[in-house]
Amino acid sequence: MKDNLVCILIGPPGAGKGTQAKNIANRYKCKLVSTGDILRENVENNTELGVQAKNYIDNGNLVPAELVAAMIKNTMELYGININYLFDGFPRDIEQNVLFEKILNEFDLSVKAMIYINIEDDVVFDRLTNRRICPKCNRVYHLKFYPPKFDNLCDDCKVELITRDDDKKDVIKKRLEVFQKLTHPLVEYYKKQNKVIEINGNKNSEDVFKNIISGINCFR
Ligand code: ADP
Ligand code: ADP
Ligand code: ZN
Repeated sequence: MKDNLVCILIGPPGAGKGTQAKNIANRYKCKLVSTGDILRENVENNTELGVQAKNYIDNGNLVPAELVAAMIKNTMELYGININYLFDGFPRDIEQNVLFEKILNEFDLSVKAMIYINIEDDVVFDRLTNRRICPKCNRVYHLKFYPPKFDNLCDDCKVELITRDDDKKDVIKKRLEVFQKLTHPLVEYYKKQNKVIEINGNKNSEDVFKNIISGINCFR
């Protein structure tokens, strides 16, 4: 089995996965694979996958496991096996995890650690209703806590920021339910293997990042 760093980043919607993902990937020279970002790009570009996925995303449901797993396999075939990987928001349930382990096995890889960022439900709504993202580079902003420097423009790309279609109260509620019911059991699964790094996401993002780093360093 190869010794590459293969990490999963998971947590309820709004926990700060997207915010932390780029920094973690830079730090450990990981290829970052965010299924949410890839799916939204496909919806935006009206690809076949995007058309199939749109309704699930709009309603806060999980996109079917076969579609997401095929996406992951394609990405890994493209980037190969001699690199580190950080999966943001994947796998999302036990079914996806079974497919994921099969794919990793084919590549002679295995999951090193799951970074589980946790926040309380009552923080989630404020985080998500004030979230803005850059449609070009996917950088995440918050109108109160991490606002862009100028107007509504991405600091890096100077592109107009957007609100995600699924960051509406009723869809957020649904996504929280889906997390508890389908995704959280995966945390238990990896806990049994002593692979979970549990992080309190309700601190400023610098502190959250520091805690993630010290957690990962214990696994290296
Ligand atoms: P996720 O990818 O887990 O859904 P995001 O990284 O998109 O979460 O963060 C959700 C929202 O909360 C964004 O508006 C982001 O700017 C903000 N945010 C992220 N981390 C923190 C933090 N530690 N403290 C306060 N707000 C945060
Ligand atoms: P958040 O950052 O708020 O946790 P994501 O960007 O990860 O949300 O996901 C947004 C939506 O995209 C999900 O509600 C779901 O519909 C879809 N999605 C993202 N990743 C997956 C996945 N691994 N499996 C199935 N659906 C997914
Ligand atoms: Zn940008």
